[in-house]
Amino acid sequence: MTDVAAQSTDADWVARMADEVVAESQRRAPDKPVVVASGLSPSGPIHLGNLREVMVPHLVADEIRRRGIEVIHILSWDDYDRLRRVPADVDQSWNVHIGKPLTSVPAPPGSGYPNWAEHFKAPMADALARLGVEYQGVGQTHMYTSGAYTEQILLAMREREHIDAVLSRYRTKTARFVAPGAAAPSDADAQEAARLAAEGSGAAGEDDGHTSAGYFPFRPYCTVCERDTTTVTGYDDKTTRMTFTCECGHAETVLLRDFHQGKLVWKVDWPMRWSYEGVVFEPSGVDHQSPGSSFEVGGQLVREIFGGEQPIGPMYAFVGITGMAKMSSSRGAVPTPADALEIMEEFLLRWLYTRRRPNQAFSIAFDAELHRLYDEWDAVERRVASGAASDLDVSSYDRAVRTAAGELPRTPRPLPYRMLASVADITTGDRAQMLRILSDTDPDHPIGSLDEVRPRLDRAQTWVATQLPADQRTRLRDEPDRAALDALTDAERGALKLLLDGLDSHWSIDGLSQLVYAVPKMQAGLPADAKPTPELKAAQRAFFALVYRLMIGRETGPRLPTLLLAAGQDRVRALLGG
Ligand SMILES: [Zn+2]
Repeated sequence: MTDVAAQSTDADWVARMADEVVAESQRRAPDKPVVVASGLSPSGPIHLGNLREVMVPHLVADEIRRRGIEVIHILSWDDYDRLRRVPADVDQSWNVHIGKPLTSVPAPPGSGYPNWAEHFKAPMADALARLGVEYQGVGQTHMYTSGAYTEQILLAMREREHIDAVLSRYRTKTARFVAPGAAAPSDADAQEAARLAAEGSGAAGEDDGHTSAGYFPFRPYCTVCERDTTTVTGYDDKTTRMTFTCECGHAETVLLRDFHQGKLVWKVDWPMRWSYEGVVFEPSGVDHQSPGSSFEVGGQLVREIFGGEQPIGPMYAFVGITGMAKMSSSRGAVPTPADALEIMEEFLLRWLYTRRRPNQAFSIAFDAELHRLYDEWDAVERRVASGAASDLDVSSYDRAVRTAAGELPRTPRPLPYRMLASVADITTGDRAQMLRILSDTDPDHPIGSLDEVRPRLDRAQTWVATQLPADQRTRLRDEPDRAALDALTDAERGALKLLLDGLDSHWSIDGLSQLVYAVPKMQAGLPADAKPTPELKAAQRAFFALVYRLMIGRETGPRLPTLLLAAGQDRVRALLGG
């Protein structure tokens, strides 16, 4: 978009955006820190899909910070928004609080937090801290009720006809809610997730302040019932005297310059804050950027009313969630960033964002796809270590594992996640057994303590406990399957004998991997380094299925070397008829 963008490699979208943001900030406010912004509404559990609202500005701010340039990432907690609805899993008696600011609604039953907003803010703030996101949190309740925006509110009220005229240019346009390039949600859960993500930040569907008595961009909260079910009935510019009524029957006259209970409607509030905070960069989701949306209208209002400029505001695509087991979330189909960090390490979650441009949609997998993602990560890490990684791999890896403030937590011995999950599954989390099996995987470098494989092991254990369906758990047979053993063919008996004879000399992950593939080759009279043919592959599959049947009573299971190590040699011999 600007010439400076050419200074960075095309692969590194973060550096490219940082170039642009720094240049724009220097043009607008040469002596001030760069300001980037995000906004989150703690109206309920903050959906994992909304994390992109914070991660995109975070990554750009972090790059700017790494360059030694002062930058502030403002995270607005939109906790002065009205409560719009009560989630299904909260006591429905909370419906009486609809229309009150989120900070005036009691926290859900059983919560230790002072109010609704704090209750839902806390887990998000905790997740952001774990993810290394450095930000300056700004509570909008505090800003509005302290009178910080009084001058801006009085200005907006004086200019209400002008604002109304700008808004009316857009009122007839219908907003589109599908972004080009956004992934089409594949099922009902994904659509619900997209909907929740769309309404997560800002009151996109809020009315814009038009009333029967005229247009007023300020909406008071009633001083009696606390709700925003109010209608401004008159306003005097000179004295700032404002009259309003409420659906509860209350009517009041106040001096707006001294009255700090209420807020600007969203479409005016957002550009007011761009100007107030000097925001240079604030990406937003598709719902805020369609024609006639708050971003487009806000661009006009910030220039024409507040004398400021619209931030650089790329659109980010939806982040979907796939494969989440129904049982894993007490909140139904609403996984949060904290839920994701239960099953994956912080750098892995960061990596999902660093390696994709904001306009690329992607999904976060909670099912076994996560194992494949970890394999991919481990491969990238090896390539980075050996110097064989691409520029994109290097930059997205580096932004995942560290921030300007330092390194994120790592697992000292990052054993494959799928192996840790299998071991946790087979042992049902028994620590002594897990230590024995994991030590056997690489006898030349045995692990001395499970701490060496943490926290990755803990995340894999939680994955097994919350995401692996009961019918896919692995349970070793207690007793050999006599009937099946008696029915073995001579060839099968021969293959099992070759396996059992080799156990002792191959008792490691690498050794057993070699052995299980070699058995069908030896049976076919082929050398150990024989190239796989279709016949050989079929024989290997049949042999693996036989071992699985005899050991766990199923056709498939954890990778065979892991299963053999987990069972131990005595158990393997007993179950395979040795
Ligand atoms: Zn009222």
